[in-house]
Amino acid sequence: MTTPVYQNFINGDFLKNQSGETFAVKNPATDDVIYHVEVADSFVQNAAIESAKQGFAVWSAMAPIERSRILLKAVALLRERNDLLAKIEVLDTGKPWQEAECVDVQTGADVIEYFAGLAPAQVGQQQMVGEDFYYTRKEPLGICAGIGAWNYPLQIACWKSGPALAAGNALIFKPSEETPLGAIKLAEIFTEAGVPAGVFNVVQGAAEVGQWLTHSPDIEKVSFTGEVGTGKKVVASAAGTLKDVTMELGGKSPLLVFEDADISQAVSAAMLGNFYTQGEICTNCTRIYVHKSVYQQFIDELKTRTEQNIVAGDPLDPSVNFGALISKNHHNLVMGYIEKGISEGATLLTGGKALRPESAPNGYFVAPTVFTDCTDDMTIVKEEIFGPVMSVLVFEDEDDVIRRANDTHLGLAAGVFTKDIKRAHRVIHQMQAGICWINSYGNSPAEMPVGGYKQSGIGRENGIETLDHYTQTKSIYVGMTDIESPF
Ligand code: NDP
Repeated sequence: MTTPVYQNFINGDFLKNQSGETFAVKNPATDDVIYHVEVADSFVQNAAIESAKQGFAVWSAMAPIERSRILLKAVALLRERNDLLAKIEVLDTGKPWQEAECVDVQTGADVIEYFAGLAPAQVGQQQMVGEDFYYTRKEPLGICAGIGAWNYPLQIACWKSGPALAAGNALIFKPSEETPLGAIKLAEIFTEAGVPAGVFNVVQGAAEVGQWLTHSPDIEKVSFTGEVGTGKKVVASAAGTLKDVTMELGGKSPLLVFEDADISQAVSAAMLGNFYTQGEICTNCTRIYVHKSVYQQFIDELKTRTEQNIVAGDPLDPSVNFGALISKNHHNLVMGYIEKGISEGATLLTGGKALRPESAPNGYFVAPTVFTDCTDDMTIVKEEIFGPVMSVLVFEDEDDVIRRANDTHLGLAAGVFTKDIKRAHRVIHQMQAGICWINSYGNSPAEMPVGGYKQSGIGRENGIETLDHYTQTKSIYVGMTDIESPF
């Protein structure tokens, strides 16, 4: 059976490459190749830059309210095509339909809607300085680049294009080579909504295409989502042309469960924060610190619910709530961490093995895994695994657990469960993390800025402040008096 071949999306349409080079994309739940994609060769790359220049000239000259109207049309189309887009995300990522149907497209659309609303609300300042005055203009940067990870492909494309386009920039987006189709569908939707040609281009390929974006002297800014190590390479490369950078990177986030917490709620948070999207979420609370007095109760409920309530299988089946990992390689990596956990002395409470569900026997499934008796120095407690592997640790003292929770070079997220309102805020204010939850975990509405402390990131996505990352301030001094010159 022949599979479709998708081309790069440049200047409002598909563009054939000249090298003829393609790559295959597999469905992680079946191991089948589902389509091929053309690599963005130098011909496509040059076309992307040229069309983005032209697109930027048209788009940045439009009144912000006009840009807003067009983006809102795209939002309506995204919502109208929710099921079609959600299915693409399920086939590309291996995540359950149950999630994609109500989260992936909707949270992407929400962010574009939010920034479309803010576009006409951006104002400059004016201030008198004696009889003279100055005013400021918020101007777009020019051509920006977005580079995405594979866990929320369409959502990431929306989270980057929403603020970039609302502020009047053109964006060249490179999705992960594992999940390239969602961004193409978004490009089609933008075009249908009336976004001018060249304003949103999609280039396809692996690291080399990403490297080209980070080097290109025509690109003013890179917004990157991915691993810490790759993020460092991107920053180093972007330094060559002093591009602005925004980095959304990895995490190893702590969740603190105090003795007065609602334990069932805390277990729900721990399971969501480790097993949703089969554990492939950057903010996951993979280090769960539980107060000694409620530890047994916590792990008893956690074990029962993990073993009884998780349904792995064909991700398109609406009753399945646990999908396949993105690739065979990643599956092996996660299994390697599980072996390390066992060899370093952690106790396997549940899981710890590959799964072969009857409805998806060739998929890259790893059982939801919980380790107890974990210590702070174990590899599984220190390194991001990006799979369904939870480490549970015990604590007795508040100050000590705060110190342990912060003892990492990462700082993406943190959470606390307690009914003591003073403790909740006192503890969370001391967490060295950019995204924090009290008696909750994982929610990330468009209005809330998200991003990392320490090596988990630079800058923020979502929330009002993100528009500042896609604009530059021009100050204009207006002389109302004669110039006093000594010359
Ligand atoms: P990677 O860092 O491997 O890849 C991210 C993107 O960068 C991909 O499109 C990749 O291309 C591209 N890339 C790879 N090398 C380079 C390079 N040298 N220069 C430019 N681009 C490059 O991350 P993953 O895709 O494996 O995603 C998982 C990671 O993403 C986890 O660490 C996770 O925590 C993090 N993440 C962070 C989020 C956040 O908001 N903080 C959200 C989601 C994920 P290709 O894959 O095609 O080779």
